[in-house]
Amino acid sequence: PPDVEQLGRATWTFLHTTAAYYPEKPTPTQRANMLMLLRSLPILYPCTWCAQDFGEDIEKNPPDVSGRVALSKWLCERHNEVNSKLGKKKFDCAKVDERWKDGPPD
Ligand code: FAD
Repeated sequence: PPDVEQLGRATWTFLHTTAAYYPEKPTPTQRANMLMLLRSLPILYPCTWCAQDFGEDIEKNPPDVSGRVALSKWLCERHNEVNSKLGKKKFDCAKVDERWKDGPPD
C-alpha cells in the first residue's frame, strides 16, 4: 500500500501549487478541467478512506473554480477539514499565497 503521509504531502503540494497558479480569469476549458481534476480524486486517489471522506466533503462543499483566489481558499478549507480530522492544526488561509506562491515577505 502507498505511504499515505508522503502521498498526502505530495498531493497537497501539487494541488495547492496548481491552485496558486490557476488563472484569475480561467477559460471554460480551464474551469472544466480543474473540476475534473478535483472530482477525479474521490474516484482515483489511492488511499480509499481518504478518497471516501474527501468525496463526501466536496459533495457538501462543491469546488469553486471561478478563479485563482476562490479556488485557493476553497482548497485551503478542504485541507483544513482533513487537518481537523487528523488532529492537526488549522492553517491560516490568508497565508496560502505566501506558502504556495509568493514565499515569505522580505
Ligand atoms: P500536510 O497536511 O501534507 O500539509 C503539507 C503542507 O501544506 C504543510 O506543511 C503546510 O505548510 C501546508 N498546509 C497545511 N494545511 C494547509 C491548508 N489548509 N491550506 C494550505 N496549505 C496547508 N491522511 C490520513 O491519514 N487520513 C485521511 O483521511 C487523509 N485524507 C486525505 C485526503 C486528501 C485529499 C489528501 C490530499 C491527503 C489526505 N491525507 C489523509 C494525508 C494528510 O492530509 C497529510 O498529507 C499527511 O498526514 C502528511 O501531513 P503533514 O503534517 O506532513 O502535512
